[in-house]
Amino acid sequence: MLSRFLPNEHVKSIFDLQPTTLKERGIKGIITDLDNTLVAWDVKDATPEIIRWFQEMRENDIKVTIISNNNQERVQVFSEPLETPFVYSARKPLSKAFKTVAKEMELSKEEIVVVGDQLLTDVLGGNFAGFYTVLVVPIVETDGKITRINRTIERRILNYMRRKGKISWEE
Ligand SMILES: [Mg+2]
Repeated sequence: MLSRFLPNEHVKSIFDLQPTTLKERGIKGIITDLDNTLVAWDVKDATPEIIRWFQEMRENDIKVTIISNNNQERVQVFSEPLETPFVYSARKPLSKAFKTVAKEMELSKEEIVVVGDQLLTDVLGGNFAGFYTVLVVPIVETDGKITRINRTIERRILNYMRRKGKISWEE
């Protein structure tokens, strides 16, 4: 059961996902979390690096959609200047938003990666929905209240899996 929480891949940041390597692997779409994955949870707008990353993906025909559990205002204000599709109040880890977005992208599950900083929402949700999942190191350590509770559970799962030798990366 715990393997549901295990990402397929663990990277330092979203910038480790680059068009050339993604394309080599047949990836044509990215479903990404927002808070602490693209920017810190309390940063309103995209940074120049994030703007460039979205541009590079677009130039390489890799579709990116933001799926966030956060509210409409937060997600819309961030996403619209990037001209990227987005889903707010997504209720991850439920599968619905992931599946809807894959359909809108007109891509198969094998052509999409799901990226996020949380095991209990992003990774679990992506795994449940049948996608390849990538965990990123959260941009900042501080979090909103609900996330803080999730983090405590998450740390326990990570520690358990580390003891079992199921994960090899270091935090
Ligand atoms: Mg997040």
